[in-house]
Amino acid sequence: MMLLPVWWNKLSVLATTVRGMAWSLLAVLALIMMLTSCDDSTIESPVPAGRVHYSCNIGTINLAMGQGTGQAHIDSPGGYVRIYDKQKLMATDEVGTGGLLLCHDLSSSSVYAYDLACPYCYSRGGSPAEKLHRLTVDGFNAQCDKCGSVFGHVFWGMPTPTSGPANKKNYLLRQYHAHCNGDILVATP
Ligand SMILES: [Zn+2]
Repeated sequence: MMLLPVWWNKLSVLATTVRGMAWSLLAVLALIMMLTSCDDSTIESPVPAGRVHYSCNIGTINLAMGQGTGQAHIDSPGGYVRIYDKQKLMATDEVGTGGLLLCHDLSSSSVYAYDLACPYCYSRGGSPAEKLHRLTVDGFNAQCDKCGSVFGHVFWGMPTPTSGPANKKNYLLRQYHAHCNGDILVATP
């Protein structure tokens, strides 16, 4: 057996230690990168969570809101209604920051509630009217006529942007909870 000088042993111990530290450092860096990228994909909506206290009859709400023609009603799959007209709300109703977009899932009985305020326009600030620009629905997309942002998954229960400036920033719609008790749709924070 060949005898190695003591300094060689020390050197190899040192090399092993440094290698171990390097791996630990890499692992920590990888973890940080993973956590940071997770944060990016689950970015909070710039639209603050407004107070929500609202219920309605899904069989009659479209007519009650004056949204009877030109759109599928909320009581059928792919239907929707926009709730924002103060004159048609009760004093106790709370409809989020910029009003509510209520959608009926395309293939199930689930219902979804989103804030009608466009997250990109809200993030840009300005007067209340500019900040709280309301989304409209075209086909199965929620969209902002002001900035051109499109949210193509609202009828699948997802608040994610699909094109336009909100998509570039990955700004989500503000989403609230919604469910049906028989004919009564209930929206909560
Ligand atoms: Zn917008």
